[in-house]
Amino acid sequence: MTVYLPMLVALVALLAGLAIGKAWERYKLRDGQWIDRRKARESPHFIVGLDLVVANQIDQAIDELSRAAWLGEDALEIHLVLGNLYREKGQVGRAINIHQGLLQRQNLKTLEHAYILLCLGLDFRRGGFVDRAHEAFKEVLRLDPKNRHALIQLEKLHEEQHQWAEAYEIRQQISEIDATGPLRARDNAILAFLENELGDEASKAGDSTEAARRFAAAIDRDRSAAPAYLSLGDVKLNEGDVAGAITAWEDLIEASPDRAYLAFQRLQAAYAAQGAPHRFPDLCRRLIAANPQDWRARLALARHRTAAGDVSTALELLFEALAYNPHALMIHQEIWQALSALGRNPQLIERYLGLTRDAIFYLDPHVCVRCRYRSTELLWQCPQCHEWNTFIEERMAPAKDDQQLSA
Ligand SMILES: [Zn+2]
Repeated sequence: MTVYLPMLVALVALLAGLAIGKAWERYKLRDGQWIDRRKARESPHFIVGLDLVVANQIDQAIDELSRAAWLGEDALEIHLVLGNLYREKGQVGRAINIHQGLLQRQNLKTLEHAYILLCLGLDFRRGGFVDRAHEAFKEVLRLDPKNRHALIQLEKLHEEQHQWAEAYEIRQQISEIDATGPLRARDNAILAFLENELGDEASKAGDSTEAARRFAAAIDRDRSAAPAYLSLGDVKLNEGDVAGAITAWEDLIEASPDRAYLAFQRLQAAYAAQGAPHRFPDLCRRLIAANPQDWRARLALARHRTAAGDVSTALELLFEALAYNPHALMIHQEIWQALSALGRNPQLIERYLGLTRDAIFYLDPHVCVRCRYRSTELLWQCPQCHEWNTFIEERMAPAKDDQQLSA
């Protein structure tokens, strides 16, 4: 027994040593407290912090995540998120410091390196340092060539500077990455808009052949690319091809009847130029028959009737249009003009017109479904969130259905 005692003591010491070694790896003395390094991600501060991020309570999220980060200096993602939160708060300098600090770490894996650079690029973009943002995103792609986030950020940078060809090339790369996924249709729609911008560029440079080719390509990519039809028709009209212009604009109506009104003025003039002005009211009637809620076709037809001297029919059409969109000031103004023409209290009506003429806000309100940016007209790219084709007509109240109307 006594023979084994030293061995037993040595064994216990060895085990204790191993345990202490493990503990040393795992625990660390910080400000007189033993900190469990493995626990940062499991700490309530981290979980609560993420909850607060989700709830968009940025300041409280920063407090909690700062505590979690203090527990785990190595926890890369906590520091990344903290940096991103400072950026969201507008403290770009602080975000840049945090993310640049993370880049100095030894033994970063390639994807970690790429992700930190992506965050840094977003910091630079937010801070308005376009060139440095550009460099950072390029570097992300060098490390991770199919990084969709970096590609999208680069595309946006080019779009902001109206470098449409560069933006187009990048969206093509994105579309190759998305090749089989559900995002393919969206990619094609964006490529169509970019193609359309390239067409506009060619058109401004006086190259109508290239412009027409671009517009047609945009339509090939995405049948609902409304601005491309309009511009293609404009190019044809400039070349003296009125019939070709009409075909382009009628194709728009065929592809997107809800956008038909964009071609109204052009078609009305072109039909008249062809000696067939009746084709315009015929078109409006067809649109109304196909979609009784089409208040814009009614408004256009009313204007046409007014011009023909038939104000009573016009007023009837306007009242119908108003039932579908009671908040459209365009309709109200037209109604008051019609009433005025029909001799109903002209002074009061003139005064009303004067008051409402400058109320641009309600003239034809549109709103971006992505960021709620409001515009008085239909825009193809949102000036705030830079997304394509996100504007819809803003209705203050739901339109009444047919039954309610006839009731
Ligand atoms: Zn927007």
